[in-house]
Amino acid sequence: MNDETREAAQETAQQPPIVRLAKVNKHFGNLHVLQDIDLEVVPGEVVVIVGASGSGKSTLIRCVNGLEEFQSGNIEVDGNELLPYGKSGKSLQTIRTEVGMVFQQFNLFPHLSVLDNVTLAPIKVRGWPRDKALQTAHKLLERVGIQDQAAKHPGQLSGGQQQRVALARALAMEPRLMLFDEPTSALDPEMIGEVLDAMRTLANDGMTMMIVTHEMGFAREVADRVIYIHGGQIVEQGPPHEVLDNPQNERTQSFLSRVL
Ligand code: ADP
Ligand code: MG
Repeated sequence: MNDETREAAQETAQQPPIVRLAKVNKHFGNLHVLQDIDLEVVPGEVVVIVGASGSGKSTLIRCVNGLEEFQSGNIEVDGNELLPYGKSGKSLQTIRTEVGMVFQQFNLFPHLSVLDNVTLAPIKVRGWPRDKALQTAHKLLERVGIQDQAAKHPGQLSGGQQQRVALARALAMEPRLMLFDEPTSALDPEMIGEVLDAMRTLANDGMTMMIVTHEMGFAREVADRVIYIHGGQIVEQGPPHEVLDNPQNERTQSFLSRVL
């Protein structure tokens, strides 16, 4: 551990985690997809989750905002508790409004303009006046570099632009935590950079982020911590220079030798 990482570790150690998973187990029928997952994420931390296809990465982050039920353990997000078997009650609604998510497929509303995509939830869910929602939306679209596309419909935009709209739309709810599930995997190579740039800006602004990605260069640069998942278990985790450049576990080594 160098001085810088030690300092960062000490700084983060003092803050209570914003996300806490304790002994979380998830099954799909006979398939034990998440096995005793313990994980804490502190405010401002950027955690990148890597692992082979089918290892449970999507399931893990989908559990964090209640998109998947789990069978045992518990999950706490900003003090709201998620319980097994979907028995989470009101805290599920709270978590869904506090946690933003960006998926591989952009999932924009195709019949709405970019601007309406971004203002819809703040108006409908938060009850913001239209003026306030519009003002915020314009600022966010500028932040992700697509302010000039506000009047267009998603179908008129490139994939990279659509994904930046999806990011702006998530940010419009002022989330305390952002989840990303392979946000650049559906993009043409020339558009990956613009989406990663927007995510990098967000990370630099101090957003707490959990990101599933195969972009190892991005992970190395932006992650505070890289987590390697295999078969529904956290096999190895640590700062990117340790996990990516000097993995200790044989499975991590073999995975990285295939993707790097
Ligand atoms: P990853 O995102 O790492 O590729 P997933 O979390 O999507 O992995 O999937 C983990 C495992 O769970 C895989 O074996 C996958 O086939 C299985 N799985 C995912 N979703 C479902 C589902 N809805 N029903 C049954 N099995 C599922
Ligand atoms: Mg996945």
